[in-house]
Amino acid sequence: MRSFLTHLECTYCKTIFSIEKPLRTCSKCSKVLYPRYDIENAKKEITPAKISTRTPNMWRYFEMLPIINPDNIITLGEGFTPILPINNLGRQLECSNLFIKDEGINPTSSFKARGLSAAVSKAKEFGITKFTIPSAGNAAGALAAYCARGGMKSNIFMPKDTPIANIKEVSIIGSDLTLIDGLINDAGKLSQEKAEKENLFDVSTLKEPYRVEGKKTMGYEIAEQMNWKLPDSIIYPTGGGTGIVGMWKAFDELEQLGWIDSKRPKMFCVQSSGCAPIVKAFLEKTEFAEPWKNAKTIASGLRVPVAIGDYLILDALRSSNGGAVAVEDEDILLETKLIAKLEGMFICPEGGATIKGLKILLDKGQISTDENILLLNTGTGLKYLDIFKD
Ligand SMILES: *Cc1c(COP(=O)(O)O)cnc(C)c1O
Ligand SMILES: [Zn+2]
Repeated sequence: MRSFLTHLECTYCKTIFSIEKPLRTCSKCSKVLYPRYDIENAKKEITPAKISTRTPNMWRYFEMLPIINPDNIITLGEGFTPILPINNLGRQLECSNLFIKDEGINPTSSFKARGLSAAVSKAKEFGITKFTIPSAGNAAGALAAYCARGGMKSNIFMPKDTPIANIKEVSIIGSDLTLIDGLINDAGKLSQEKAEKENLFDVSTLKEPYRVEGKKTMGYEIAEQMNWKLPDSIIYPTGGGTGIVGMWKAFDELEQLGWIDSKRPKMFCVQSSGCAPIVKAFLEKTEFAEPWKNAKTIASGLRVPVAIGDYLILDALRSSNGGAVAVEDEDILLETKLIAKLEGMFICPEGGATIKGLKILLDKGQISTDENILLLNTGTGLKYLDIFKD
């Protein structure tokens, strides 16, 4: 197996950078860098049939992932999570083809495992051993876990009101944890300062080019698990947006590989009405999102007032003919409990938000009941016991 990684490209000004050294954002315009691959040659080496015989985790797409030497992979078995039909909920909504991809069964119980497995493995390839991250909760647990697994050191900055499970997880794993009076963007400033002072590698969402490569494997899996025919609509609970832009990147790569056609799902982003910068920017038709003031929501993964990849998220929503909806926290709780009762799935509130989002989109006619609809559940409810009072 060999990776077909060739270079990094700025998603905004298109400047090309070498993959020889660890980079973070574009040195010209400070926007997000994407890894690029020699897909023409990858195509000659891998086929869906060949991939299908490999171990069911995200590293089955190795040729389209950025690690050069497979020995550098730090894995806990992340990825290849199931796509389950949810017919009991589907019947209530009169949706005949409703599915959920359950990312809650990943290591560290959220899809953050994918991004951090990729980023920590790639950093290992560069000889980096000390990391720092600002997190709304789940990214911290994942960084802590992959660092421990790789014998590396992690420093974590999180809001002090992050769910208790996230806090205990990182302290038991043994990270250096700083709880702050503020939100993830405030944590980001402290993390960056510490990185500069102590020469740590900061793996903030999309300010490091390889986390998105882990997250894009959700897109590869959706295609593979649905027999190389993408759903009509995908509903995704959006914070920093790595997942949605990662899937969008994956679909382009898959088309270039010749494994899917040019038809794309409508991509929908769901946010909490207590922190909905992307929804606001989508509705106001702006290229970037303004920072959200006083961000507040029980869905801690959505409590991201500033997303560096805002223009990428908005582009995916717009060019797919999708959309963006904000939902109330109260409804997030109700829907999270509803799917637990109907399907036996105790999902995270971020996942619950997609159900309310779906209901709104059906009402507005942006999604129709006969479509093939895929919800993304991004984590387990078990990490959020503090918000369930009964
Ligand atoms: C981080 C997180 C999100 C948001 O993911 P992005 O890809 O950064 O938008 C959603 N749900 C959960 C559970 C998360 O941990
Ligand atoms: Zn640039």
